[in-house]
Amino acid sequence: MEKYRVKAEEKIKLKNYDPDDTSLIPDGKPAGLAKMAELTQKLDKLQEVLFAEHKHKILIILQARDAAGKDGTIRSVFSGINPQGVHIESFKVPSEIESDHDYLWRIHQQVPGKGEMVVFNRSHYEDVLVVRVHNFVTKDVWKNRYDQIKNFEKMLTEEGATILKFYLNISRDEQKKRLQDRIDDPAKNWKFNPGDLKERALWDEYSSAYEDAFNETSTNLAPWYIIPADHNWYRNFCVASILVKTLEDLDMKYPAPTADLSKIIID
Ligand code: ATP
Ligand code: MG
Repeated sequence: MEKYRVKAEEKIKLKNYDPDDTSLIPDGKPAGLAKMAELTQKLDKLQEVLFAEHKHKILIILQARDAAGKDGTIRSVFSGINPQGVHIESFKVPSEIESDHDYLWRIHQQVPGKGEMVVFNRSHYEDVLVVRVHNFVTKDVWKNRYDQIKNFEKMLTEEGATILKFYLNISRDEQKKRLQDRIDDPAKNWKFNPGDLKERALWDEYSSAYEDAFNETSTNLAPWYIIPADHNWYRNFCVASILVKTLEDLDMKYPAPTADLSKIIID
């Protein structure tokens, strides 16, 4: 999975990342689904130790263009775990009170505490993406935000958080297919948002904004992963693999019993 990680010192171009890539599972979708089933079981166990140990804080950030599958990724990756074990937080257009504060105000309130796993469906990165592309603030304002975000995330990791940032990298063609499908399939009509076409028209502007965000804010402690997202099964597999590996590397332990259990007799 290292090939999808944006290294701290690197300056990447999105065009060098193939959204159609499935190279880590050469046997294709059935093999990918089988591996995914193993990963979801592992994740279930890891989440339990995470909670029991009450030490680490896991923050997973999902960013993507429309129809790249943030919702589908969440549904698939977390399908096997205790519903109490993960909290999903979706960040929409800021409310009036949120807009009255700095852009990290609403974010900081939702970061995970000890033993918690939180998924951000969109995040503070919107404030250097949509906000930049639509000129909601001036350039000197959004330019300062890269350092602010890096420092904010640095503070979170120094305080015990583990941060993973995923960009679900869908191609322009695949997005077209998926948006068309939302028009053609009556069961998907509700998902169609005409506003998504306006964002699609700004494809290149978003590409530049994403590239700058990755290059400015991918650090060793809070890395970005650019996940091929044209195939749902592969996208889910990659996100689950990286998450499971990261949790395994934390070497979490169940806490020691609080009493000498060998002396306890239950009548
Ligand atoms: P779906 O797949 O359901 O469409 P979504 O994440 O696109 O999911 P929407 O309610 O359609 O959800 O869109 C949320 C919108 O809020 C996005 O267009 C996003 O760019 C916007 N948004 C999020 N954060 C900010 C922000 N800080 N400033 C401006 N717009 C924001
Ligand atoms: Mg949307």
